[in-house]
Amino acid sequence: MNDNNVAEYFRPVLNAAAQSPARVLVDLNALENNFRYLSNRSDMPLMPVIKADAYGHGLLPCAKRLAAAGAEWFAVGTVAEGVLLRESGFGQKTVSLLGCLCPEDIELAAAHNIIPFVGSFEQLDALTARVGGQPVSIALKFNTGMNRLGFSPDELGELIRRLSVYPKITPVLAASHLASADEDGGVEQTNAQIQTFEIIMRELRRDYPEIGSSLYNTAGLLAHSHKLATTLARPGLALYGSNPLGGTALNQPEIDSALRPVMQVWAPVVQKRLLRRGEKLSYGGAFTAPEDMQAAIVAVGYSQGFSRGLSGRGELNIHGVRCPVLGRVCMQLVAVDAGGLESVSEGDQAWILGGPGNSPIRAEELAAWWGTIPYEVFCLLGGVNSRECR
Ligand SMILES: *Cc1c(COP(=O)(O)O)cnc(C)c1O
Repeated sequence: MNDNNVAEYFRPVLNAAAQSPARVLVDLNALENNFRYLSNRSDMPLMPVIKADAYGHGLLPCAKRLAAAGAEWFAVGTVAEGVLLRESGFGQKTVSLLGCLCPEDIELAAAHNIIPFVGSFEQLDALTARVGGQPVSIALKFNTGMNRLGFSPDELGELIRRLSVYPKITPVLAASHLASADEDGGVEQTNAQIQTFEIIMRELRRDYPEIGSSLYNTAGLLAHSHKLATTLARPGLALYGSNPLGGTALNQPEIDSALRPVMQVWAPVVQKRLLRRGEKLSYGGAFTAPEDMQAAIVAVGYSQGFSRGLSGRGELNIHGVRCPVLGRVCMQLVAVDAGGLESVSEGDQAWILGGPGNSPIRAEELAAWWGTIPYEVFCLLGGVNSRECR
């Protein structure tokens, strides 16, 4: 893969962003605040997870601020993201969570010193066949109950035997991923995963006494990390200001007051519209005005990540006032009830996420209206709109 191919990975995102009138504001001070809070709460260093363009917040600006705040490791989604970091001058130890997805990824990982996750013998064989004679660091991924990626514990003996044939391939890290660390009903499964991981680490350290260990995502770090010491934690979500423990018995009020939202999103009001009693609004006439009312038409729709599933649900924040969504969400437009506003003008900022006043729209709220989780809200809104980091 050459540099052009790497740029190809990101081109669709750039094109969509150029066409969107919605603006994503990324507050890097808030990101730093959250990183420092999680660092202070943690007995181990953090490997901030900045995969998928830093959950839609912007890979490079987020990496830059996290590096300035002391991050010495990064977890990226793909080798291509790692290459972007390297080309921008980042020297942090960088792990690719998806590992190598094609032969070119293997070459790039070796050339740029990116540490790929390796979680199967096929992946290991592909790697050793291509770069087995070169010094390459890898991260071993283990399945402890998520049943998605990774070697199973009973493959450990065979794994160590096969690795011994390639003295230049160095496993610098062993990792596993928790499936339900953010759920009240998940404590038993989490404990079982922790126990399995502990056994794996004990075995591995006989042959690799220096190897690092990483198990905890945000929820694991905040709710379970006292159960087993590891050498690196891998938080993502909380860096971006969302608390995965919110609404569960595992939550601690301190977390909600410490974390600050990083992403805000707004789009302009395109037109105001006085609806007469009985008039129907937009496609399908899904909304009928029960009385004369002031509506505002806002330049955001499902092509910009404001899902059509939000039709007739949820709210935007204009001038600090909550304005309920009316009728269908269109491709680039949505209507809201502006009746609660003293006045509204074309060009006014309508906030999809965040916003002024005492009732900024929280990612958790938007996610609930949408029927999803804050992770998806961030990735979709951040992924397709023009972004400004400051
Ligand atoms: C995304 C991801 C994380 C971070 O999870 P959060 O819930 O966002 O903290 C950690 N580890 C792996 C393997 C991941 O894919």
